[in-house]
Amino acid sequence: MGTLSIVATPIGNLEDITLRALRTLKECDVIYAEDTRVIAKLLARYEIQKPLARLDAVTEGKKAEEVVARLEAGERVVYVSDAGTPGISDPGARLVAQVRRLAPGAVIEAIPGASALTTALSIAGLDSTGFAFLGFLPHKKGRQTALKKIAESELPVVLYESPHRIEKLLKELEDVSVARVTVARELTKIHEEVVSGTPSEVQAHFTAHPDAVRGEFVVIIEPKRA
Ligand code: SAM
Repeated sequence: MGTLSIVATPIGNLEDITLRALRTLKECDVIYAEDTRVIAKLLARYEIQKPLARLDAVTEGKKAEEVVARLEAGERVVYVSDAGTPGISDPGARLVAQVRRLAPGAVIEAIPGASALTTALSIAGLDSTGFAFLGFLPHKKGRQTALKKIAESELPVVLYESPHRIEKLLKELEDVSVARVTVARELTKIHEEVVSGTPSEVQAHFTAHPDAVRGEFVVIIEPKRA
């Protein structure tokens, strides 16, 4: 039986990859990737050449059977998502579940590394031992219910958000009267920025700096006043 390595990759800065991740990428037989073009850039940076295959959210179930066949043949298979840790608001979880079920003898190992979730929390300065992570909020159905639950949460809540919806989200958080938000943008990249305040203060920042409504966002919400 082979080994499936779930490898975390950088969330921006290509230097944020572990020695173990690089060795695993160098020594594997094949790399399955959410988007082969994205991983090709990382591999080029570290002069690694390997066969690449696509396994994204749409193909995850079907391609898992292919991965199982490779593992049964004793291969070393790597899975990487576009950025950060696979399975965290990314494909990977269904692949792992299928491999556990269909190839119980295969070794499944985590090669840990960057995640936007932990990176944002590490510089948010939250005075808390716990948090809830909800990933992306639903766009339509269930969004209002989710926002109400966030406002009632005893724990800080961490969300991922796109630049198209960040201002809408800040307005919604103002409407449900959460106490404070921290928006961490473009972490590990040139335009990295962390803005904290009431939802309307953070919104005012983005109104004053429209160029900052770009890139990738993590939103940390403290629903109640400390
Ligand atoms: N699996 C990834 C991880 O471990 O962080 C997350 C993948 S999810 C599809 C992508 C979302 O993560 C982005 O829309 C954004 O909300 C957040 N994200 C990823 N990279 C980021 C960065 N450099 N700065 C801020 N947020 C980021």
